[in-house]
Amino acid sequence: MTVIFEQSGDIGGRWNSDTAHSVVWPELRANTSRTTTQFSNLNHATGTLTCPRAAGVKAYLKRYVDVQLRPRARSILES
Ligand SMILES: Cc1cc2nc3c(=O)[nH]c(=O)nc-3n(C[C@H](O)[C@H](O)[C@H](O)COP(=O)(O)OP(=O)(O)OC[C@H]3O[C@@H](n4cnc5c(N)ncnc54)[C@H](O)[C@@H]3O)c2cc1C
Repeated sequence: MTVIFEQSGDIGGRWNSDTAHSVVWPELRANTSRTTTQFSNLNHATGTLTCPRAAGVKAYLKRYVDVQLRPRARSILES
């Protein structure tokens, strides 16, 4: 059983621009490509920019949680 600890209200870490600790803004472009800024078991959505915006990385991470982690994890976001 995996337990996810997150102090802010949502996942995304630096890429969650809605939190004070993030320091990124939604339109910020990653300086890494979408193929190097993804996990091996989930591709970015079709149409994602070569260097995705922060909002796109956050959306990708949220989708990753839903597809790969939430089915197997007990997150404190839900407790
Ligand atoms: C301005 C900027 C631009 C960047 N651009 C890129 C890029 O283009 N490409 C790239 O690959 N990387 C980039 N990075 C690096 C970026 O930090 C990583 O991509 C990634 O966010 C690191 O993930 P992480 O989970 O290690 O840390 P973070 O994303 O920082 O996530 C850590 C999480 O842990 C939580 N947390 C911390 N302490 C606690 C606690 N005690 N209890 C509960 N929760 C806690 C925080 O709230 C946060 O959500 C950039 C970083 C910055 C600052």
